[in-house]
Amino acid sequence: MKKSILSLIIMLQLVGSGVLAQQAAIQRINPTNWWVGMKNPNLQLLVYGPDAGSLTYTINYPGVRLLKTHTAENPNYAFLDLTISPATKPGTIKIVGKRGSQMLTQPFVLKARDKSPKGQGVTAADFIYLAMPDRFANGDESNDKFADMADSNADRANPFYRHGGDLAGAAQHLDYLKDLGVTAIWFTPVLENNQPLTNEGGAMRSAYHGYGFTDHYAIDKRLGGNEAYKAFVKKAHDAGFRVVQDAVYNHVGVNHWILKDLPMKNWLHQWPTYTNTSYKYQSVTDPHGAERDRHVMLDGWFVPFLPDLNQSNPFVANFLIQHALWSVENFGVDAWRVDTYMYNDQPFMNRCNQALLDEYPKIHIFGESWVNNVVDQAYYTRNKIDFPFKSNQPGGLDFVLYSSMLDALKQKFSWDDGVNRFYQALAQDAVYQDPTRLVTFLDNHDTDRFLSVIGDDLDKYKIGITWLLTTRGIPSLYYGTEILMKNFKDPSDAEVRRDFPGGFPGDKENKFETAGRTDRENEAFQFVRKLATYRRNTPALHSGKLMQFLPQDGTYVYFRYDGAKTVMVATNTNDKELRLDTSRFAERMNGYSSARNVLTDQSIGDLKQINLPAKSALVLELIN
Ligand code: CA
Repeated sequence: MKKSILSLIIMLQLVGSGVLAQQAAIQRINPTNWWVGMKNPNLQLLVYGPDAGSLTYTINYPGVRLLKTHTAENPNYAFLDLTISPATKPGTIKIVGKRGSQMLTQPFVLKARDKSPKGQGVTAADFIYLAMPDRFANGDESNDKFADMADSNADRANPFYRHGGDLAGAAQHLDYLKDLGVTAIWFTPVLENNQPLTNEGGAMRSAYHGYGFTDHYAIDKRLGGNEAYKAFVKKAHDAGFRVVQDAVYNHVGVNHWILKDLPMKNWLHQWPTYTNTSYKYQSVTDPHGAERDRHVMLDGWFVPFLPDLNQSNPFVANFLIQHALWSVENFGVDAWRVDTYMYNDQPFMNRCNQALLDEYPKIHIFGESWVNNVVDQAYYTRNKIDFPFKSNQPGGLDFVLYSSMLDALKQKFSWDDGVNRFYQALAQDAVYQDPTRLVTFLDNHDTDRFLSVIGDDLDKYKIGITWLLTTRGIPSLYYGTEILMKNFKDPSDAEVRRDFPGGFPGDKENKFETAGRTDRENEAFQFVRKLATYRRNTPALHSGKLMQFLPQDGTYVYFRYDGAKTVMVATNTNDKELRLDTSRFAERMNGYSSARNVLTDQSIGDLKQINLPAKSALVLELIN
């Protein structure tokens, strides 16, 4: 007791003399650890704490050299440039900071790289399933909400609040996804979003979607935290799935720890008064564009509560790139979907993509470039156009094909409309270096749901699913589309992000199971399943060539073929059945005398004329 009173008195004296206030400290180091044996030997540590920038740093560890210490405008930061030689042994580095008589030591772990799969990529052989973890399945009710988080709510009755879904829940449904024919899983972002409820459009909304990061090195504990994510990826890999992580480089959440004490003013894009991006990507891709317009498009903020990162600041760039590498190495991520791709500094994006590809050559990267035409879409991926800036992004989300498929199903057939739209989009593939690396889709978490867009028409649904799973590209399906979840974004996007029925304790219906689905839902599920399974076993649909014929009278025919197989897809978008004369397809059909209908398993003995039911797409494997 006496001793503690004495300590207290000494401490009070120290505080009074200002000695304690001047003591430097290290509270955070990012990345939180690293590995030996990475191909790139360089590492830049962000060191944060009171007066951390005033310390003189030394590292004494065989193979590790501290090349340079950078200070920042804010004395609470130091950036340490390290190089780690290939022969360095795993272990704990002691980072020593000295100032006058003060010396402090902070451990930093260099791990050995494990042999578990990582950076395996996704290809056209895959079938991606996109789910919002908060809305898919709740496997652990104990993590639904936490009193110590900025938003401590969870309430399934409120469409804008968190609903409690998590990684444990998703892990429980891998068998369901396997059965459906899915081979890769993409979640909306899983990083910590310790954001308060935010007033958006007059309603208080949570960050359940995950796009406002608050700590790059923490998976949100409401999803299960870092360990649950690691466990999920392992279980998914063991079951043969690939895992796609959703990256956000453009912005962070207002509650990100670093925003509370910025290292430097230009960590963010600063404006004299709040400036929103114009969302007009043409100002970047336009050869006649004005610098002012480009500046607003790229450096304006996406929304007021998502501060815009300045990726031309090399410290920001290193911070983001190292986080991407850390995520692949730590969790075993196989591919990246990149949010708001067009709003990022494009030279930065190339650097970031290249860093990932250098370390993990098979990794796939596909960004969200929500454009309405092929030229602009090509700008943001590897292309064959003579743009002054050349993107090195291997893939991209195919927004042009998405809208063309919907138009093809919504519009009446005419010279340029109806199924001509789909045909014409593919006819412009010459702009891409490799269009088979684009990720195709019929809907996602930001769009109206597919079934509603096509008027709740199951025949049109089957045509769309058939195109998705047989044309070129890497198909992706938005969760629930296989069980006919529908809705427009009216009155809000929460309508297209409803809970998967059966994923949550107390659900009255369980649509993960055949018995819980209606006949119509089972028909849709079985349709997707049958075609996805056929696709998985048919390389002609992944890497085979595509040949399409001019649409005529509302019909559209294309072939996927390789040395082993020729698959014919024949679409009739008319309301009445017709007989398709196949003579003009001889170029691909010569030598084939019969076919198997992949969806019904029926044989077709005569290929001269094919019966096409009203509003249908036949998938025929040709037999010689
Ligand atoms: Ca939960």
